[in-house]
Amino acid sequence: MVIRHLLGAVSAAAVLSCALTGAGFAQGYPERQITMVVPFAAGGPTDTVARLVAEKMSGDLGQQIIVENVGGAGGTLGAGRVAEADADGYTILLHHIGMATAATLYRSLPYDTTNAFEYVGLVTEVPMVMVARKDFEPVDFPGFIAYVKENADTVTMANAGIGAASHLCGMLFQSAIETQFVTVPYKGTGPAMTDLLGGQVDFMCDQTTNTSQQIAGGTVKAYAATSPERLAIFPDLPTVAEAGVPQMEVGIWHGIYAPKGTSEEVTTRLSASLQKALADEGVVKAMADLGTAPSPAADATPAALKAKLESEIARWKTVIEAAGVYAD
Ligand code: ASP
Repeated sequence: MVIRHLLGAVSAAAVLSCALTGAGFAQGYPERQITMVVPFAAGGPTDTVARLVAEKMSGDLGQQIIVENVGGAGGTLGAGRVAEADADGYTILLHHIGMATAATLYRSLPYDTTNAFEYVGLVTEVPMVMVARKDFEPVDFPGFIAYVKENADTVTMANAGIGAASHLCGMLFQSAIETQFVTVPYKGTGPAMTDLLGGQVDFMCDQTTNTSQQIAGGTVKAYAATSPERLAIFPDLPTVAEAGVPQMEVGIWHGIYAPKGTSEEVTTRLSASLQKALADEGVVKAMADLGTAPSPAADATPAALKAKLESEIARWKTVIEAAGVYAD
């Protein structure tokens, strides 16, 4: 009996020591700088969200998270870079809905979307606004639609490549108004916005994290928001549904990923840090000023992001296959 007790105590100690080793690994991590890949150019909306959370997470993790912009091919180049990175927790990815749409838009990708990553959590869901250069003629969204249809051969829409959120919004717009117009791809909508402001391109559909300041400053013309409700920061701006194009309703959700094989201790640590960052008052305020809000803590988890990615791949597969639009 005494021996049984002793053996029990020994195995309990072994279990405890294993648990401590695991926890110790998580506590030791991170021991150096982390790279957060943003699969779009600097200065754009995904970059803005990434820098906001990276700064807060750095404070909590006690190590700097530096943002590396790897733009091109609608976000698939940056995602591919992270899919191939060491699964040690020092290279992570902040991407958006494009992670799900690219899985169908590209019949061949250099990575297998649902098998190449581990999950950290959802970050935010950002509405988009259809914006045009300041001197674009149409005064409202119905007028804008009519103008685009009449001038389909000459009007130009900027996007961040096939698989980008701006491409998805444009695709929904083209299919809703049954018109094909010229699209101009960029490495991100940061540089696209520069060209819109300069008048080199006519219009674009982009996240409020890139458009809100320009709309407020009157440097671009805003036509409609892709959110189900009007935006708190622009209560006079109609939603796409109010303007008669409910098919364009879309929210651009963002998530953080790590390469496949990254340990659960690491993803759990990153997720806890993400949750703290999203609860920070400064982050909440900054996001509100940009027309959005952080994801609730329950969604800033590996399980919630995995479920979201899988359901969104299925949802957009149907839409994309019906539209018959592919990148390759
Ligand atoms: N808003 C861009 C997109 O179309 C990406 C970016 O530049 O952040 O997905």
